[in-house]
Amino acid sequence: MARLALVTGGQRGIGAAISEQLHKAGRKVVASYAGNDAAAAAFTERTGIPTIKFDVSDYAACQAAVAKIEAEHGPIEILVNNAGITRDATLKRMDRKMWDEVIDTNLGSCFNLAKLVWEGMTARKFGRIVNIGSINGQAGQYGQVNYAAAKSGIHGFTKALAQEGARAGITVNAIAPGYVDTEMVRAVPEDVLQKIVARIPRGRLGTADDIARGVCFLTADEADFITGSTLSINGGQHMY
Ligand code: NDP
Repeated sequence: MARLALVTGGQRGIGAAISEQLHKAGRKVVASYAGNDAAAAAFTERTGIPTIKFDVSDYAACQAAVAKIEAEHGPIEILVNNAGITRDATLKRMDRKMWDEVIDTNLGSCFNLAKLVWEGMTARKFGRIVNIGSINGQAGQYGQVNYAAAKSGIHGFTKALAQEGARAGITVNAIAPGYVDTEMVRAVPEDVLQKIVARIPRGRLGTADDIARGVCFLTADEADFITGSTLSINGGQHMY
C-alpha cells in the first residue's frame, strides 16, 4: 500500500513541489497550510492532493489535525516539516513577538509534529522525517537572528532525533536550501537579489523542484542508511 506523507506548508512554494513530487513517486500525500484558502483550493484542483488547514506552531491544533488525517487517510509514515515564515529585522528593531513567531513556526512545529507521529512510526518500525532548514541557519544572515536561530535549531533537532529513531527504523534528516525562487525570496528587493545571485557559483536561484528532489531521495524506502544528515541544496553558495 502507498505510504502516506504529510507535507506542512505543502500547497505553495517549495512545499507544493515537494507534495507533487512525492505524489508522482507513488506516495499518498496530504498538504497542510495556514490560511491561504485560495492557494489550497487551486492546488487541490490542479493536483488532486487534499489539503488541511491548521497552525503548525499550535500543539493542540497539530494534535487534532494528525488525528483527523490518520482517521481519514491512514498512518503518517513520512513527515516533511516544511512550513516556515520570516519576520526580518535587526536585533535592535526586532521585538519579542517577531522572535517567538519565527521560533514557534519554524522550529516548534518540528517538535509538535514529530512528537505526534513518533509513537506510530516506532510501533510500525518505519518512518521518514525530513525537516527543511536553511543556508541561513548554517551561515547566519544579517537581519535574521530569529530565522537563523530557528533553522540552526532544526539542524540540531535533526541530529538528536535521528539518534533516537535509528533502532526503530525511523530516519530523520534535514535539507538546507539555498536561495530558491519562491514568494519568500521574491519579496527581497531586486538589487539585493542580484547581489545574492552573483554569490551563487551555479549562477542562478534554486527552484522548488531542486529541493523536492532531495526530499524524494531522503524519504525513499531505500534511503534506510541515511539519517542525521543535512543535505545542502544551494548551487555551491555555502559548502558546510
Ligand atoms: P512560502 O512562504 O512560499 O510558503 C510557506 C508555507 O508555509 C505556506 O504553505 C504557508 O501556508 C505555510 N505556513 C506558514 N506558516 C504556517 C503556520 N503557522 N502553520 C501552517 N502552515 C504555515 O515558503 P517557501 O516555499 O519559500 O519556504 C518553504 C520552506 O523552505 C520554509 O521552511 C522556508 O524557511 C524554507 N526555505 C526557503 C528558502 C527560499 O529561498 N524560499 C530558502 C531556505 C529555506 P499559507 O499558504 O496558508 O500561508
